[in-house]
Amino acid sequence: MADPFGFLKYPRKDNAYRPVAERIKDFQEIEVPLAADERQKQAARCMNCGIPFCHSGNFFGGKRAVSGCPNDNLIPEWNDYLYRGNVKEAFKRLARTNPLPEMTGRVCPAPCEASCTEGLNDTGITICDNEYYIIEEAFKNGWVKESGQPKERTGFKIAVVGSGPAGLAAAWRLNQLGHSVTVFEKADRFGGLLMYGIPNMKLDKTVLERRIDVMKEVGIEFVHSTVIGTDISKAELVYQFDRVLLAIGAGVPRDLAIRGRELGNIELAVDYLTKATKQVLSGAAATNGLAGKHVVVIGGGDTGNDCIATAVRLGAESIRQLEILPQPPKARLTDNPWPEYPQIQKRGYGQEEARFLSPANDTLYETTATKFIGKTQVEALEIMKTQNFQPVAGTEEVIPADLILLAMGFTGAEQAIFDDFQITETYDNYQTNNNFVYVAGDARRGPSLVIWAIREGRKAAEAIHQALMVHQEN
Ligand SMILES: Cc1cc2nc3c(=O)[nH]c(=O)nc-3n(C[C@H](O)[C@H](O)[C@H](O)COP(=O)(O)OP(=O)(O)OC[C@H]3O[C@@H](n4cnc5c(N)ncnc54)[C@H](O)[C@@H]3O)c2cc1C
Ligand code: SF4
Repeated sequence: MADPFGFLKYPRKDNAYRPVAERIKDFQEIEVPLAADERQKQAARCMNCGIPFCHSGNFFGGKRAVSGCPNDNLIPEWNDYLYRGNVKEAFKRLARTNPLPEMTGRVCPAPCEASCTEGLNDTGITICDNEYYIIEEAFKNGWVKESGQPKERTGFKIAVVGSGPAGLAAAWRLNQLGHSVTVFEKADRFGGLLMYGIPNMKLDKTVLERRIDVMKEVGIEFVHSTVIGTDISKAELVYQFDRVLLAIGAGVPRDLAIRGRELGNIELAVDYLTKATKQVLSGAAATNGLAGKHVVVIGGGDTGNDCIATAVRLGAESIRQLEILPQPPKARLTDNPWPEYPQIQKRGYGQEEARFLSPANDTLYETTATKFIGKTQVEALEIMKTQNFQPVAGTEEVIPADLILLAMGFTGAEQAIFDDFQITETYDNYQTNNNFVYVAGDARRGPSLVIWAIREGRKAAEAIHQALMVHQEN
């Protein structure tokens, strides 16, 4: 496997980000890949460690965050091929488990790297960036289309509802297995949160369109602007298809029911990010739409960070972020050892950009919003410090706020379609109490990560295939 001494010869080198001063002027991708020879050296650092924790996702010590790849990617194998210069074979290994590596190579938080054995005493391997390189080479060389072709058609027809990573991964795998797949999407473009959620700076939308084009070329049908349950009924789907997979995400947002919620300019994060992406896709240049405006982002996670990066590009006067949790430590605590996922401070790309513009653009930890203030539009926000998630009396402060973005996560999937199909239970094997219907992705496991959605889509596809083929044999 790779070079057993590679990790001693070559220091870790990540893909760079474009300089902050340059990248905040546009919505283009911020990541800059390494050259091929440098990437090969990074693959050489994979050290034949014997027990690679990286290639299976585990909740070590019962902790909340997974460590290791949730999708069981064959990481040491493709690192070895990459190191030896056989990128096509590296791609074949990668494609065995991951139908959408160009997405994870860009946006995965890489829990694999957290559990890398080399990371026990050093910095770990650049697994995510290696994945990015391999899939980009695969697209350049036409290997992706080749890998998606079915050997023969089974004659079964499957409807996939929702075109996020779970729906796309499932459609890809079902088609590979020979089934005829139609993907239905209620939005005007395909991709779910990959399209309207994650901003263009992290995932250029041409990357998504490139995948959809290949999926169409290998025989998958796509229908957009169509709500299943409204535009097409349950009865029609049952009539037309042999199985239905619901990959509808967990799009019900968590709201903040405090005084003044009815005021204008208080927006849900995903609505705001969707508008920004639509503007980028319309070809409009970055505008100064937020010039002179004070923006407050409520929620300290990745979505909040994407909101900050977007507000930076729209020229906001100030951007503050509220996080109800305490600030994480700078380094692992003793109760959070390797190979657990490190619960430590990380400054996201948006936070870095906002701080570059002004040190006042910071994240306020253990802080919550208690009142929106204004006449018709929000003008200010009352905030309070918290202890154990409760506001502490006497800590009230009022900060200016012309736009408030609620980035507090999601509560789960919309129920209507589940009710329509009379689904009352979903099982670990992606089946439901309705034998005809399967569920995968955030719709099944709750708000999560792209790689979990991909895993669920792939596994659900295989479960559907198995059920149909057994049914056919009987
Ligand atoms: C702003 C933001 C940033 C994120 N950044 C990251 C990141 O950097 N890295 C990461 O790993 N994860 C990230 N995530 C999480 C990740 O995007 C999700 O976990 C993942 O997209 C879930 O995939 P999914 O396919 O299950 O659902 P979704 O991506 O939500 O897709 C579901 C799709 O189903 C469609 N749909 C719903 N109902 C119907 C219906 N009745 N008929 C037809 N279509 C329907 C929806 O329109 C949607 O397109 C982020 C999430 C957000 C909100
Ligand atoms: S998908 Fe994520 S966790 Fe899995 S190998 Fe790639 S970067 Fe690592």
